Amino acid sequence: MKPYKNKNREKNLQNFILEIPKKEILGKCILCEKNVSDPYYSFHIEDGYIHFECAIKYIKEMAYSMRIKNFRTIYLGGKKFGIISDREKGENKKWNIIKKVDLEEIIEYKKNTNLKY
Ligand SMILES: [Zn+2]
Repeated sequence: MKPYKNKNREKNLQNFILEIPKKEILGKCILCEKNVSDPYYSFHIEDGYIHFECAIKYIKEMAYSMRIKNFRTIYLGGKKFGIISDREKGENKKWNIIKKVDLEEIIEYKKNTNLKY
């Protein structure tokens, strides 16, 4: 019997767990009201944060409500998104932006919408 060995192992394990870095919570998402902890996959705006995924969800909802068919959503940069449609013309794949959406518009849209999708 070596009672001390187990105790040490337990202690090492505890230290190991403590060394795992905690995700820092930056704030709450305006759209889903959950915590935001990833600065690279979220937007920081005046009133708080927005998950990238949440923004996409609302843009899709927006597109469905406008009855836009066969669309894709892309990030255009500068906190702006695009609802785009693909058109195939011969060998050239063309796409055009049906609508540009910025974060303010998403926040405004959220106030009058319950997500269905
Ligand atoms: Zn969110």
